[in-house]
Amino acid sequence: MKKNTNIQVKRIAILTSGGDAPGMNAAIRAVVIAAKHHQMSVIGFCAGFNGLIDDVSRPLNINDVTHIIHKGGTILKSARCPAMKTPLGIAQATSTLLKEKIDALIVIGGDGSFTGLIALEKQWSGQIIGIPGTIDNDIDGTDFTIGFSTAVNTAIEAIDKIRDTAEAFERIFIVELMGRHSGHIAFNAGIACAAEQIISFENFSPVKLSPDNISLEKNSSDNETDKLKILAKEIKQAQANRHASYIIVIAENVWQGGAPALAQQLQKIADIDCTPCILGHIQRGGSPVAKDRILATKMGVAAIQAIMAEKTNIMIAEHNNAIAHVALAIAIMHQQGVSESLVQAQENILALTAQHIG
Ligand code: ATP
Repeated sequence: MKKNTNIQVKRIAILTSGGDAPGMNAAIRAVVIAAKHHQMSVIGFCAGFNGLIDDVSRPLNINDVTHIIHKGGTILKSARCPAMKTPLGIAQATSTLLKEKIDALIVIGGDGSFTGLIALEKQWSGQIIGIPGTIDNDIDGTDFTIGFSTAVNTAIEAIDKIRDTAEAFERIFIVELMGRHSGHIAFNAGIACAAEQIISFENFSPVKLSPDNISLEKNSSDNETDKLKILAKEIKQAQANRHASYIIVIAENVWQGGAPALAQQLQKIADIDCTPCILGHIQRGGSPVAKDRILATKMGVAAIQAIMAEKTNIMIAEHNNAIAHVALAIAIMHQQGVSESLVQAQENILALTAQHIG
C-alpha cells in the first residue's frame, strides 16, 4: 500500500459522497487544518462525484472550516452520482483531477463511494484515501463509521418519545429504523430503548409477504407466514401478562413493505392493532455527538498523515481505539455485521424479561 513515487504532495482534493452523515463536516475541518499545517492546498469538489466529473469545486481554507464541527450534513453537499459507474464518468473524473493538478483525493463516504474510488484508481495515479462516513456502520475493517453514533442517539431520542405515548395509551408501535442492509442502528437503538422486539437481518431473514398477499389459513405451512405467526404469538403473550406499551424496532428492508405492511399483516392475521412509525431521514441529520466529532477529527488528521507517508488506496479506520489503514479493496469486500454478542444480549434480555413477567 506504499506508493512508489517521489511526487511531493501539494494539492489535495476532498469530497463527500453517498448519504450524508453527521460528522462529515468535522472530518472536512480536520483534513483542511492538518493539510494547511503541512503547507498543502485543499479544494473541495461539490455534490459528491458529480463535482469531480463536472469540475465544480471551491478552495478550502481555515476560515471555511471554522465553526462547522457541530453542524450536521456536509458543507460540500453530497449526492448519488450514477455517472461515476460508467467508463465515461471515470474518464471525466480523471480528466478533472489531472486538469486541477490534484496529488491526492480524499473521499468521505460509504462502501459505494469506495467502489467508485477503486474504479478511479485504475485510471489515475494520484493518492487515494477513503474516510468511512455513513450512518449505517456497515464498513468492514473499522469499528465505527462517522455518523453512526449520532444516528443511534437520534433514534433513541425518538423512540423514548414514542414510548411515552405508547405507555399512555398501552399501544404497540412498530418503529422502522435506517441501516440499508444491516441492523447496526436497529440493534443498538433497540437495545438502548429496551424494545420488546428487534427485527433485523441478524435475527430474522427477510420476509417477502406483500400487504395484499396474506393467506395464512390457506398457506399455513409457508415459512414466511410462520414468522408472522410466531411474532403475533409473542406479542399476544406479552400483552396478556401486562397492560403496557410494546415497541417493535424493525430494520428497513428486512420486511417487504416495511413497518406499515407489518402492522397491516398483524392486524389481519391476529387482530393485533399496531401503529407503524418510520423514523426516516431525521436519523441522518442533526449535530454530531461527541463520539462522531472526535472520530471524524482523528480520521481527518490521519488521512493527511497517510498522504504525507505516501500511502494510497486505503481507508482510514479505527480499530480498538487506534487508527489503522485498511486496503480499500478489503474494506468493500464484506459488510461489517452486528456483533453476535449484541444479538445474543438482546435475546438474553428478552428471555429474562419474559421469565420475570411470566
Ligand atoms: P451510504 O451507504 O451512506 O449511502 P455509499 O457511499 O455506500 O454511502 P452509494 O449511494 O452506494 O453510497 O454510493 C455513492 C456513490 O458512489 C454513487 O452515487 C456513485 O457515484 C459511487 N459508486 C457507487 N457504486 C459504484 C461503482 N460500482 N462504481 C463506481 N462508482 C460507484
